[in-house]
Amino acid sequence: MGVGADFDVAIVGAGPAGAATAIAIAGTASVVLIDRDASPVSRIGESLPGAVRPILRQLDILEDVAAGGHRVCQGVLSCWGTEGLAVRDSFTEPNGAGWLLDRPAFETGLRHAAVKSGATIMFGSMIVSARRVPTGDHAWELKPKNGPSIRARFIVDATGRSARIARDVCGAVVEFQDRLVCRFARLPPTSLVGRFDDFLLVEAVQDGWWYSAITPNGERVIAYHSDSDLPAANSARTPTGLFQLLLETKHVQTLVDSSRWLRTTKVHGCSAQSRTLNPLAGDDWASVGDAALSFDPISSQGLTNALYSGLLLGRALQQPRAVGGLLLYRSRMEQVATRYAQNKEAHYGLDLRFAEQTFWARRQRGRPDYRR
Ligand SMILES: Cc1cc2nc3c(=O)[nH]c(=O)nc-3n(C[C@H](O)[C@H](O)[C@H](O)COP(=O)(O)OP(=O)(O)OC[C@H]3O[C@@H](n4cnc5c(N)ncnc54)[C@H](O)[C@@H]3O)c2cc1C
Repeated sequence: MGVGADFDVAIVGAGPAGAATAIAIAGTASVVLIDRDASPVSRIGESLPGAVRPILRQLDILEDVAAGGHRVCQGVLSCWGTEGLAVRDSFTEPNGAGWLLDRPAFETGLRHAAVKSGATIMFGSMIVSARRVPTGDHAWELKPKNGPSIRARFIVDATGRSARIARDVCGAVVEFQDRLVCRFARLPPTSLVGRFDDFLLVEAVQDGWWYSAITPNGERVIAYHSDSDLPAANSARTPTGLFQLLLETKHVQTLVDSSRWLRTTKVHGCSAQSRTLNPLAGDDWASVGDAALSFDPISSQGLTNALYSGLLLGRALQQPRAVGGLLLYRSRMEQVATRYAQNKEAHYGLDLRFAEQTFWARRQRGRPDYRR
């Protein structure tokens, strides 16, 4: 079927969630998978926990991921609630080790699997508007920036944190649970001190927390998380400010050759807020991945949820007039949101050393309302 034609399902966004949805539908409906990027772009430098293996197996992509040039991650070292380092070793994980991802390669593999499962692709094509069609068989008309419109019976919002389609056209509202932002730098191998190379390192500090990992190309990611309205998040925008904050750490600073920091470092920033879309789905649309629920990176749950929600929704859409499947999808995702909120509260409750600091007090003494 050519581009510009009619489809049963149009998926906007070919990140992990959108691609997993297309794979799970697997030839039972006509699917178009659309993304504004012609090829996947690099992200911060994420880890995929070993617990995701059963989901990868169900999507039939486990072997490809395992052979995909990602770096095996042997576990997590954490300085959280204690001055020393605690180890959570992958040896104790029933599903085995996870990976430090080569994100573009991971997404390219997912896109290939979506094509193999029968999806039509439209990459390098940004959807600029969508509207409900009042009459006819196809409920939706989508307009790409270039090229003819696409009609579809069902639309999937897999646009990531922007939840562009669900907010603009489906009347859904994003509920914000915090103001977390991430400021990060990628350091070339020459500015590194080789330690903990196959582990993630997480360290709590007074105004937030740090994350560090080595990517498959040998760079080290050094990432600081704090609330956007706190002075520390503002200071962390510059290499000098981020470095001053790095000196508050006990462990993360030991990974960096400080004499090379200022010469080589560029600071990037992105939102890391916890958010929930309300509602998550309707009769003729649904959201998946970050568009539906986005998580604090401390949970390491974002990619797992992207793949899991895509798998669940794809299966629900395999049945024609999939109303029962969609109800089940919504209730499962609501359960995920509830469990996530409980885990997040428990996680931040583990470190009482900074209980008087605003960042920690907000998370330990009940949640302020950030809804907009
Ligand atoms: C700082 C930080 C660290 C993180 N670390 C981890 C980690 O270690 N482990 C982990 O599991 N998760 C981590 N995550 C979360 C993880 O990155 C996300 O959960 C994951 O990328 C969500 O996948 P997705 O497919 O839902 O969305 P995305 O990956 O954002 O994909 C959305 C896609 O939609 C496309 N798109 C958007 N708008 C349009 C449009 N109008 N038209 C066409 N295409 C469009 C985009 O080009 C993109 O390809 C982290 C997140 C942050 C912010």
